[in-house]
Amino acid sequence: MADISIGVLAVQGDFHAHIKMLQTLPGVNALEVRTQQDLESVDGLVLPGGESTTIIKLLTISGLGQAIIQRAQQGMPVYGTCAGLILLAKQVNERPDQPTLNLMDICAARNAFGRQVDSFETDLVVDTADGSIPVRGVFIRAPFVAHYEPAVKVLATYRDRVVAVQQGRLLATAFHPELTTNNAIHQYFVGMVRRSVEQV
Ligand code: GLN
Repeated sequence: MADISIGVLAVQGDFHAHIKMLQTLPGVNALEVRTQQDLESVDGLVLPGGESTTIIKLLTISGLGQAIIQRAQQGMPVYGTCAGLILLAKQVNERPDQPTLNLMDICAARNAFGRQVDSFETDLVVDTADGSIPVRGVFIRAPFVAHYEPAVKVLATYRDRVVAVQQGRLLATAFHPELTTNNAIHQYFVGMVRRSVEQV
């Protein structure tokens, strides 16, 4: 099986944890992506958690955001966690002026679980195309998906709130699998990337 390269956007946020988790998967080169040149060498991209407003500012200034949009539109798989989910969304609840990468037909509600429950963990099941994956959902000032278009598949909910979605080659979770010891969601994303590489 040929190696594939998966990039992790490394301008801000918890990119180290994603790199570490991807390195546990056989046949995967995990690379930090900071420039358009870095992006050219990857087959798929992870957008980590962090501060979505800061990340989008940095992406806009550098032009890297536009390059990511272009690659995604050409079929490169992208997986966003937490702030990454917000970046993928076409709309942000209550902040319609917040720029995003505008790729997924979802509306993200930011910091949606409220101050009292800023961060929490819970057991979840993620219903992927490759089967149901039980995970420990780690939520940190997490968003949820407030609205979605029919093209979007809901993979997981928590208390009736949508917390994992997929639209074609775009995957997003409100929680952080990279902060657990379970690499199954990353494994699933690697499968998406492998299939996309085989189809080119
Ligand atoms: N609340 C953050 C934001 O809006 C996301 C939090 C996270 O990524 N852990 O960008």
